[in-house]
Amino acid sequence: MKRPLSCPSAQPEMPDAQVLGVVERGPEGPELTYVNAHVPVTPDLLEATGAVPPTHVLRFAAPCAESKCTHFEAGKCQLAVRIADGLSPRVDKLPPCAIRRTCRWYVQEGAAACHRCPQVVTRMQEADPRMLEIAGLAHRDRVPG
Ligand code: SF4
Repeated sequence: MKRPLSCPSAQPEMPDAQVLGVVERGPEGPELTYVNAHVPVTPDLLEATGAVPPTHVLRFAAPCAESKCTHFEAGKCQLAVRIADGLSPRVDKLPPCAIRRTCRWYVQEGAAACHRCPQVVTRMQEADPRMLEIAGLAHRDRVPG
């Protein structure tokens, strides 16, 4: 059976969500430290972030929703296309990532996605204008993350 691809910028409440990494603040902005293991999202894990919404401090992966997602068009994740085309690389090696074999962005865009992935934030309230444009939110209201 064909394995579903994974979205590396998912919401924690999505079915079969797992933790992709911990969002830290680097000198150039948000920087993801990858959790190189399968860590499923559980109620306890979500409660562990306390008053801070989980998407502020963690990034999640979950099965790609394909046509149910606003970013999916012409058989591709257009967010991954915009990230690979529009962001500068943040790293020059493939990060130690637990989902690479099934990652929609990697399957589609290859290493170019991985070199840019650590700077991507799912929560967009504090994103800079360039990141909002990449997310397709430049001309819309910002969405809760
Ligand atoms: S783009 Fe690369 S680094 Fe990011 S989640 Fe996918 S496989 Fe991992």
